[in-house]
Amino acid sequence: MPELPEVETIRRTLLELVVGKEIKKVSVFWPKIIKKPIEVEQFKDALVNEKITDINRRGKFLIIYTDTFALISHLRMEGKYGLFKEEEPFDKHTHVIFHFTDGTELRYRDVRKFGTMHLFLKGEEHLNLPLSQLGPEPFSQAFTKTYLQEKLLKTERKIKPALLDQTIVTGLGNIYVDEALFRASIHPERKAKSLKDQEIVLLHQEIIQTLSEAVDKGGSTIRSYVNSQGQIGMFQLQLLVYGRNGEECRRCGTLIEKTVVGGRGTHYCPTCQKSSLK
Ligand SMILES: [Zn+2]
Repeated sequence: MPELPEVETIRRTLLELVVGKEIKKVSVFWPKIIKKPIEVEQFKDALVNEKITDINRRGKFLIIYTDTFALISHLRMEGKYGLFKEEEPFDKHTHVIFHFTDGTELRYRDVRKFGTMHLFLKGEEHLNLPLSQLGPEPFSQAFTKTYLQEKLLKTERKIKPALLDQTIVTGLGNIYVDEALFRASIHPERKAKSLKDQEIVLLHQEIIQTLSEAVDKGGSTIRSYVNSQGQIGMFQLQLLVYGRNGEECRRCGTLIEKTVVGGRGTHYCPTCQKSSLK
């Protein structure tokens, strides 16, 4: 699933590809992706003659702005955007197409069909679900160490599920939570409220640092991610623990273990991330 850095990379790529283009028609082949308005015909009609003016991001959501509207798009597990010429064929996994007046089209492809789109009048997008429930962006001024500490002290949860909660901080997913906890030497099953002051200082730093390294990496190689089919791909930071179960810890050589925390596959080093402080 794309997390903040991947969505940011997609945002920057889309910005170069589609800003300024005018929509002449919208096709929707899988109406359940469109969550608002309820009537898919309204969604399609509203966007005709609209020009794409900007693309923002909030957490893992893309916000595609047109003259009048804000289209909020969440890619969930498998959603992908790509820019194509209209004569190029598309497959059965392409569910939404924004046809532009210049003969190109932005296609949304989603094998699992879990992605969502909400259309709001510009200005209303942040006042309503899904964006209204999101916590601060990790790179924003609101995300301070004190803020994080207050939130963690209030929850009975373990640290990993607390960090996955998008209302506390938005944009972290399974991969970067595992990475940030490793880098801060915190066991994923520690109770969030048990973290010491110094641990929270480090965790706060590592959340920002891990995500910003990943964003920088994506940003620096952005062009290589649009492949010959116009599909925007993913990059990945070199990961220290995620997906490395059974391999040696890059810091101490202990084998990385995998467990399940809050229903999510979780990778950690049993030596660097002690659970004894529970
Ligand atoms: Zn280790």
